Amino acid sequence: MLNNYPDTTILKYRRERLIEELRRQGISNPKVLEVMRNTPRHIFIDEALVSHAYSNNALPIGYGQTISQPYIVARMTEALLTEGTPDKVLEVGTGCGYQTAVLAQLINNVYSVERIKKLADKACNTLNKLELYNVLLHHSDGHWGWPKKAPYQGIMVTAAPTTVPKQLLEQLAIGGRLIIPVGPRGQQELLKIIRTRRHYEQYILDNVTFVPMLEGLE
Ligand code: SAH
Repeated sequence: MLNNYPDTTILKYRRERLIEELRRQGISNPKVLEVMRNTPRHIFIDEALVSHAYSNNALPIGYGQTISQPYIVARMTEALLTEGTPDKVLEVGTGCGYQTAVLAQLINNVYSVERIKKLADKACNTLNKLELYNVLLHHSDGHWGWPKKAPYQGIMVTAAPTTVPKQLLEQLAIGGRLIIPVGPRGQQELLKIIRTRRHYEQYILDNVTFVPMLEGLE
C-alpha cells in the first residue's frame, strides 16, 4: 500500500469515480482496479493540472509528452497480466512514471527506460517519494530495450513505433508478452505479441493514440 503523499477527500472521491468508469469501460481485473484506486495520479502531473488528474484523459507533462489516459494504462496492464503475473517487466517510455508506479505494485521487478533525461529524473524522484524501490530507471533509447536485464516475461511500450523493434522481440522470454502500440499517428493499433517456443503470435487489442517512439536521446 502506498503512503507518504498528499491526498484529500475530494481527490479520493474523484479517484473512486474514475475506477467506476474504468469498470464500465470493461476493465475487470480486481488487482489492476485496486492498484489504480490506490495510486495518486495527481502527484505525477503539474500542480496547475491537479483538478484534471482523475479525468479519464491523457494530459501534458512537458517536453511534448503526455501522461497516458487511465483507461489505456488499465487496459495495457490488464493485457500484460492475462496469462499470469510476470516476475520481471520492461517498460519503454517512463514519462512521468505513472504507469511504472502501477506496474511496480503488481510485479516484483520493473525496469523502465526513457529517452528524455529530465523526465527520467523527475519520474525517479516521484517513484522514490512513493517508496517504490523495486523499479530501476535508465536514460536510454528504448528501441534497444535493456539487453543486460533480459529476458523479460513482459514488455510494455508506451510510445508508438512504426514497426515493432526487433530487439524487443528478442528480449522476450519464451511465453513472454509484448504490449505495444504500432503505426503512424492516427492509425495506431495496440498489439499483444506472445513469444512461443517456435514463433510469435500477434493479436490486435484496440485502436489507440500514442505519442511517437523517437530515436536517440534528449
Ligand atoms: N508511461 C507513461 C507514458 C509517457 S508518454 C505514463 O505513464 O503516462 C511516452 C513516453 O515515451 C514519453 O515520455 C517519451 O519521451 C518516451 N519515449 C518516446 N520514444 C522513446 C524511446 N525511443 N525510448 C524511450 N522512451 C521513449
